Amino acid sequence: MALLQISEPGGEAARPAHRLAVGIDLGTTNSLVAASCGDKVEILPDDKGRHLVPSVVHYSEDGSVQVGHEARARAAADPSNTIASVKRWLGKSQQEIRQSSQASRYQFDETRADTAPAIITAAGSRDPVQISADILSALRDQAESCLKGKLEGAVITVPAYFNDSQRQQTKDAAELAGIKVLRLLNEPTAAAVAYGLDTEDQGAVVVFDLGGGTFDVSLLSMRQGVFEVLATGGDTNLGGDDFDQAIFDWLQGGFAAKATAIAEQVELRTYAEKIKQQLSADDEVAVEWSEYSGKLDREEFRALVKPLVDKTILTCRRVLRDAGMEPGQIDNIVMVGGATRMPVIREAVAEFFGKQPLVSIDPDKAVAIGAGLQADVLIGNKSAGKFLLLDVNPLSLGIETMGELVEKIIPRNTTIPVAKAQEFTTFKDGQTAMSIHVVQGERELVSDCRSLARFELRGIPPMVAGAAKIRVTFQVDADGLLSVVAEELSTGKKSEIQIKPSYGLNADTIETMLQSSHEHAKQDMEIRAQREAQVEAQQIIDAINAARESDGHLLQPGESERIDAAIERLKQAIQGASSIEIHEQTEKLNRLSADFAARRMDLHIKSLQGESINAIESAEE
Ligand code: AMP
Repeated sequence: MALLQISEPGGEAARPAHRLAVGIDLGTTNSLVAASCGDKVEILPDDKGRHLVPSVVHYSEDGSVQVGHEARARAAADPSNTIASVKRWLGKSQQEIRQSSQASRYQFDETRADTAPAIITAAGSRDPVQISADILSALRDQAESCLKGKLEGAVITVPAYFNDSQRQQTKDAAELAGIKVLRLLNEPTAAAVAYGLDTEDQGAVVVFDLGGGTFDVSLLSMRQGVFEVLATGGDTNLGGDDFDQAIFDWLQGGFAAKATAIAEQVELRTYAEKIKQQLSADDEVAVEWSEYSGKLDREEFRALVKPLVDKTILTCRRVLRDAGMEPGQIDNIVMVGGATRMPVIREAVAEFFGKQPLVSIDPDKAVAIGAGLQADVLIGNKSAGKFLLLDVNPLSLGIETMGELVEKIIPRNTTIPVAKAQEFTTFKDGQTAMSIHVVQGERELVSDCRSLARFELRGIPPMVAGAAKIRVTFQVDADGLLSVVAEELSTGKKSEIQIKPSYGLNADTIETMLQSSHEHAKQDMEIRAQREAQVEAQQIIDAINAARESDGHLLQPGESERIDAAIERLKQAIQGASSIEIHEQTEKLNRLSADFAARRMDLHIKSLQGESINAIESAEE
């Protein structure tokens, strides 16, 4: 019988508490935080009502840290203590960071040269994770003061191309900032979610994301609640900043005296950005800089930035070509990133795809809003609706077994997150280590699959072949990170590894791998049968040889020679291609050695006689 709820006299029926979770768009130039407020997800403002938080951090000598507008305002006067665009440094090596364009402004901490690359600031040395954590802390404070409560979790967005270490460092930064990460969500997926495209049965969506410093194009295909990334492209060094640079160069070209001091250059760059933004609203902008005065109109601007606009369209063309699609096959184009406000960009995109892009949601806010919607679902405030946004594992994941065969543990198209385990055993008597080779693909032989990683499990207690139990667990989390754990069950000895299976994988590679598995299906099955027969035969040969060594006195005259001859015939069969022949010869060897095996069994049972039944039972366990 169902229980009926009875409300407290005079009170309201208890409602499940609304849990505070936010979506965070941790951008290169600006960051935002969004949360559900009633029916809608909204961007949470700071105490001055501003939505965008510049991803800039300023460190002062008294140890204080400023983030956002206040930090950005300090950039001109104190460039070496003001850090912008730190997202570009996440997951990068010392060398890559030192060679990046913004590096010349900073002094690096040589004492940490072998660990994370860190910058010396007035408040001490800071590495990219710590700097990102400072931004995230400020966003958390902003959210908590706006929502008047403690944050329970966040969905943080990352570019689709972010690799394992970039994702891990984003998570580390969140943890350092005291934020529980519910999930890392790909930025294009978040933008599509904001437009409600995850509720449609199917469709092809292009997400065109032109931010301050980066450009990304993603082609997503939506099928029944599953977003698949079909292709991605972009340029990690193309963004609104380059459009500023084009105006900056134009301004510099127009002056008698060039701005040479760093502070003056920073100021001029800020002015260039202002002109660019004004051109999104007005056809013409008046330009005043010291004694110079002039104007810049949209047509002149279009000519200045043509190479940049062409580059973005070329990337769209390439992404479509990678997925084998035509511009006309795209159902929706989602515009993301502040720089897509430029009419010159919107027009070029509309012309290329032959349809107007979706621009009704503020392009700076779409990613955060999508993340906020997901956060609300993941924390349990809202049901997922018709579809639960899922990601799938695009290729099977497995390990290498004897005979260079692949044992699939997580099959292709399994929805993630997922965890699966399988037990394996040793091949040789006394084997104390096992090499685990993690592979990806649909084919039966290791050499036809992608090798992802190798690691070893050591310290297996010596036992007869086949007695040890090694459980191998594959776990793919919601971000696509794969952890493989191998555990010897009697001792609990463990060894593990973390891998990003999608690293270096694109839609093309996946397609090629699937196609070749279809083409070779029959041949693969034959090879598998042959290899399995070979492995089984070798195991039997090894076992008989080991038995002859330990219990040779039980052999009758001539018996060993007959076994030798049968082993020789089986070895020859192993060299051949026919699994039927191997099975036949294995069977013959088994029959020939059956008497010897029976004698051994008798002997061992006799030696156990006299021991209690309990002892025998526990020996068998
Ligand atoms: P995001 O990284 O997505 O925050 O994008 C920041 C970039 O968008 C910067 O280069 C801004 O100058 C640019 N941006 C913001 N508003 C506009 C606008 N109205 N017109 C052109 N670019 C803009």
